[in-house]
Amino acid sequence: MWTAIILSALAMTAIVALRYFAASGVFAFATSKVRPGLYAGLNPQIRREMGWSLVSAAIYGIPAGIVAWGWQNAGWTLIYTDIAAYPLWYLPLSVFLYLFAHDTWFYWSHRFMHRPKWFRIAHAVHHASRPPTAWAAMSFHPIEALTGAVVIPLLVFLIPIHVAMLGLVLGIMTLMGVTNHMGWEMFPRWLVHSRLGGWLITASHHQRHHDEYRCNYGLYFRFWDRLCKTDKGLASP
Ligand SMILES: [Zn+2]
Ligand SMILES: [Zn+2]
Repeated sequence: MWTAIILSALAMTAIVALRYFAASGVFAFATSKVRPGLYAGLNPQIRREMGWSLVSAAIYGIPAGIVAWGWQNAGWTLIYTDIAAYPLWYLPLSVFLYLFAHDTWFYWSHRFMHRPKWFRIAHAVHHASRPPTAWAAMSFHPIEALTGAVVIPLLVFLIPIHVAMLGLVLGIMTLMGVTNHMGWEMFPRWLVHSRLGGWLITASHHQRHHDEYRCNYGLYFRFWDRLCKTDKGLASP
């Protein structure tokens, strides 16, 4: 049993690492086409971003691998595969609940990590990317990576979700993690500057966090930033 659990943790670590190289690689390549020269001179920083991200891959992969094993072999988690197990309207709702719960956790833990002591100990690694690149998506100190790594493996015990919707949540997490750091806005102006865009976090919003530090702490939604008056709007183009 323990061998199977360890193998599952190792396999998940490999999957997270490959996902990182695939997703960041695609958007780094896109950046070289859309904004040539944007990462000029940043190679030493990018190497550090990759190093921290690979450590993070293990920190994300191990709890996810253990929970995946328990789901398959021990009846753990509320992940379901029968699409009819819950009403169809629950599919989008479950995705929103996961994103909102993750966003809430991220907002408050992120604000906490901007306290001087924890910033020095942990969060400074993420802000050492100046400006961040597509490779900074998982560039976190292990302490910070751990605070992020437990969220989804805990939520699957609390909120039922169809396995495909869980895949969608992980896809959104990966896509936004990469694109929010890549240094340019890929979403159209009509969306980013729309009423809906006013509640969503894309690169223009998170870039401002990296520029100014003490604002725009959210992950997916601007709800907590707006409520707590930490939303400073979008970075100037
Ligand atoms: Zn960031
Ligand atoms: Zn920060």
